[in-house]
Amino acid sequence: MELSATVQKLKPSATIAAAAKAKELKSTGVKVYEFTLGEPDFITPEHIREAAKEAMDAGHTHYTPATGIPDLKQAICDAYERDHGVKYAANEIAVSNGAKHSIHNVLTALCGPGDEVIIPAPYWVSYSALVELTGATPVIVSTSEESGFCLSADQFRDAITSKTKLMMLNNPCNPTGACYPVEMIEALARVAVEKNILVLSDEIYEKLVYEGSEFRSFASFGEDVKNITIIVSGVSKAYAMTGWRIGWTMASAELTAAMTKLQSQETSNPCSVSQFAAIAALNGPQECVTDMLKAFVERREYVLSRLSKIPDISLATPGGAFYAFFNVSHYFNKLLQGGVTVKNSTEFCSALLEQAHVALVTGDAFGAPGYVRLSFATDLKTIEAGFDRLEKFLLPE
Ligand code: PMP
Ligand code: GLU
Repeated sequence: MELSATVQKLKPSATIAAAAKAKELKSTGVKVYEFTLGEPDFITPEHIREAAKEAMDAGHTHYTPATGIPDLKQAICDAYERDHGVKYAANEIAVSNGAKHSIHNVLTALCGPGDEVIIPAPYWVSYSALVELTGATPVIVSTSEESGFCLSADQFRDAITSKTKLMMLNNPCNPTGACYPVEMIEALARVAVEKNILVLSDEIYEKLVYEGSEFRSFASFGEDVKNITIIVSGVSKAYAMTGWRIGWTMASAELTAAMTKLQSQETSNPCSVSQFAAIAALNGPQECVTDMLKAFVERREYVLSRLSKIPDISLATPGGAFYAFFNVSHYFNKLLQGGVTVKNSTEFCSALLEQAHVALVTGDAFGAPGYVRLSFATDLKTIEAGFDRLEKFLLPE
């Protein structure tokens, strides 16, 4: 069979591949310490599950409008106005099958061969792959640990060419946890307006922000900035709803209409029952978010304290999301547990899984050689045992 050139070129999602590799080892009876997927371990809160059951029993089991039912669009507008003080109208909302699908819709509606899309690195694995799928070229701009992995306005300006269509920003960031200072976001927004560059602002981790950091939505700096902003968000992370597959965009009515046309041909609509669950998430009590955040605060502190005790490991303290992204390059070409040596982050993760049964994701997949990503969206006991094993792997007696 001759597969299409597009699919032959496409890389599988490295996060999903790392999780699958860990599960494969687990299926052989080995106890694996899993820190791969960015997926909260909590079950979706009860009132949200109940809303889905009620929706099913009420017969909401049919096709819906292509980009979501009016009540969900209204709930998204209300939540955004409540949380960020910015008004959107229902015809500026497109609900999709997860934020990953929303990103795909934005890129497919806007980009094609000859276009450039600026992506600050480290970046979430799917960004570059989804840009390439449209035939456009990802323009990767590296940021440093010293800058807290934040793209500066000057870096943004320098990367813009006549072919630039879009910049993709993820704040708070997967994989680094970087939560941009407000003045840095505003400086990026001013460049985008001045140069008339659209910005896809992926704000899916907006509710997962730690003390000392402040989240500001990209669209909140005035009408001119809002006009060039495409917000991407969803319920997966804040409400522990990864499996329900609901994400959305907030963008101009023109782009929203284009994505609606696209989605009507692609998937018809997002899952009807999940849409009712998402309404309950957004309109219902928000204590569930605060409770889960409390658990993440505790896990983050523990992870940071364990990392600080391992010699020659460095990282930028994560201000948001639930990842620690640390540099392990000091341990390349040194004798590790089992007498193995590794030359890069990908070999590091493979050896760590084989020798210590600890699963991390290689920084190579995020455009950051030398680094590895640990997701602390898992219970403290597993994190504790995982660190004991990681230490032993790095520093065998
Ligand atoms: N953006 C970022 C930065 C993410 O980490 C994820 C994680 N899956 C997504 C988008 C997609 O989320 P989902 O498709 O589950 O809504
Ligand atoms: N976004 C999560 C992660 O980075 C989930 C997996 C995925 O969608 O790639 O682990």
